[in-house]
Amino acid sequence: MSPSDPAARWTGAHGGQTFFAYSTNYLVDVENAIIVDVEATTAIRQAEVLAAKCMIERSLERFDLYPSRLLGDSGYGSAEMHGWLVYEHGIEPHVTVFDKSARTDGTFSRQDFIYDRAGDVYRCPGGKILTTTGALLNDGATLLHVASKRDCDRCALKSRCCPKQASRKVPRSIYEGARDMARQIARSWEGSTSRRLRKKIEMLFAHLKRILKLDRLRLRGPNGARDEFTLAATAQNLRKMAKLVPMQSLKPA
Ligand code: SF4
Repeated sequence: MSPSDPAARWTGAHGGQTFFAYSTNYLVDVENAIIVDVEATTAIRQAEVLAAKCMIERSLERFDLYPSRLLGDSGYGSAEMHGWLVYEHGIEPHVTVFDKSARTDGTFSRQDFIYDRAGDVYRCPGGKILTTTGALLNDGATLLHVASKRDCDRCALKSRCCPKQASRKVPRSIYEGARDMARQIARSWEGSTSRRLRKKIEMLFAHLKRILKLDRLRLRGPNGARDEFTLAATAQNLRKMAKLVPMQSLKPA
């Protein structure tokens, strides 16, 4: 625990030497690279995802700003976050999907099974159907699709599919539809445009560190971090707006 700021979090997130830190999170209008909202959090991913949700809801409440799409890296790519964006807010997820379902032991991965939305079943590489009872697993957000033991016992592909199980099971998040939408967007022209636009967000953080030199906080505690991050974002916005607004329009009438 930091003796000077017990709320700061020990982190090695940047890949180098570990240190005590807070994170600054921006909600950015990518068209103009204007920061719409700022949220200070502890330096852990879960807090940053919560901050993203908080900023979206706050800008809706305060500015009546409702984004049609959200751009983000795989840190925001959990199934739950995609479900929140698509099902609860109708926001297009231009977010890299965080997916660990690929297998590396040579057996079939989930992507080798074809999902049939109409019947809510998977079709396996052997052409058989995997069904679900509809009961959620302990996490409250995952359904298990299971192949028939009789089909798997007779299948020539069993050694490549479920060599150590009686039959193959394929878990599917209840938010997987939203993640499929994100995968589809990522393959599209809009998806590659969004990945290019994300550089504008990264530039803001690079500017924060290299030009404004905000690599050390002067104030202590979460409120100190929030105040410093908000002031820094304000300075970045003013600098950007000075470039965006033509000088002529600033002259008194
Ligand atoms: S082992 Fe079962 S689930 Fe796997 S391909 Fe064969 S029938 Fe399909």
